[in-house]
Amino acid sequence: MTNSDLLGIAENFGKPLYVYESEKITSQYERLTSAFANVKNLRINYAAKALSNVSVLKFMRHLGAGLDTVSIQEVQLGLNAGFEPKAIIYTPNGVSLNEIENVAKLGVQINIDNLSVLEQFGTRHPKTPVCIRINPHVMAGGNSNISVGHIDSKFGISIHQIPHLLRIVENTAMKINGIHMHTGSDILDIDVFLHAAEILFDTAKHFKELEFLDFGSGFKVPYHKNDIETNIEELGEKLSVRFSKFCMEYGGELQLIFEPGKFLVSQAGHFITQVNVVKQTTSTVFAQVDSGFNHLIRPMLYGSYHHIENLSNPQGKERFYSIVGYICETDTFGNNRKIAEITEGDLLVFRNCGAYCFSMASNYNSRYRPAEVFWHEGQGHLISKRETFEDILRNQVELSFNL
Ligand SMILES: *Cc1c(COP(=O)(O)O)cnc(C)c1O
Repeated sequence: MTNSDLLGIAENFGKPLYVYESEKITSQYERLTSAFANVKNLRINYAAKALSNVSVLKFMRHLGAGLDTVSIQEVQLGLNAGFEPKAIIYTPNGVSLNEIENVAKLGVQINIDNLSVLEQFGTRHPKTPVCIRINPHVMAGGNSNISVGHIDSKFGISIHQIPHLLRIVENTAMKINGIHMHTGSDILDIDVFLHAAEILFDTAKHFKELEFLDFGSGFKVPYHKNDIETNIEELGEKLSVRFSKFCMEYGGELQLIFEPGKFLVSQAGHFITQVNVVKQTTSTVFAQVDSGFNHLIRPMLYGSYHHIENLSNPQGKERFYSIVGYICETDTFGNNRKIAEITEGDLLVFRNCGAYCFSMASNYNSRYRPAEVFWHEGQGHLISKRETFEDILRNQVELSFNL
């Protein structure tokens, strides 16, 4: 998809606008499945929270993916998009036992990440197979910023608690059909990831009725021009060999699962905004767009980098700008960026806006959330409408005061 395609879409559907390219999603999906082509029973469960539009979920199903969900609402979205309950895994953190029971009733695979709920669930539903989320506590080079499931993380059951875990499983006679880890950090060092995988294998040996091993996600995609990304091909080669060796020893062909979000949709997404004001101060030139952290919060929430280009003047002389929003808070998208000369009214595009962008959008400042368009086979299809004033008032209850 070209920049002139994006301009055409903005003309048709208005701004600000999220656009997702189906072709990029497909190529990422195929890249991952090819890297693991030697695994007999591979499953890619798309992490719905990255981008949860029902049409995107349907597209994932069409590719052959299953679904990774973290709330009962995401489960319902998945069922609504036509996923079989069996193709959905539910990996919540800190939710009520009641919600977990309701999801289990739908026939969805449950993944439990704490001993308290495991014991209660196992006692009440010993026949429902459950997956266990472990925390492998692997540290990459001693740097806690890139640690893999660090010791104080709220996610997963610590591998130091395996004896306690085994006692609960034995006492309740519950069935454990899968072992899971999702470290949440970027897999840059393949050897560190393989080390965590060894811990998963070690844990798996304790259970006799396993059907799958779920290695979670953490695939890093490039945001910056010079960013390193996870070497999926190398990981595929090494982990496939190790996995099939494990299956031989285990005495059964298990399913290998990954649950990528960002890897599948990040680069497929483009966010188009329009410049309202170019404002020169003593030290900076601000370009203020018709957006803010109500639409794209990642730069402000965790300092993520999104490449920004001027769609309207691509050949213009490059100058330095701070790109900010229109929200009454500091909402800097990018500081001191070199961008082709910007004039008021120009359209800017933010890259890597497929994952955790629209799904984190809000109505702060009582602004509408943007529309979303799916670019498929050379055509733009609206997949969520721009909000209207009725949406802002929808759940508000107006009291009448007799003043
Ligand atoms: C968020 C999440 C993912 C997806 O992570 P990405 O970094 O987007 O690939 C996978 N599994 C679980 C359990 C998650 O919570």
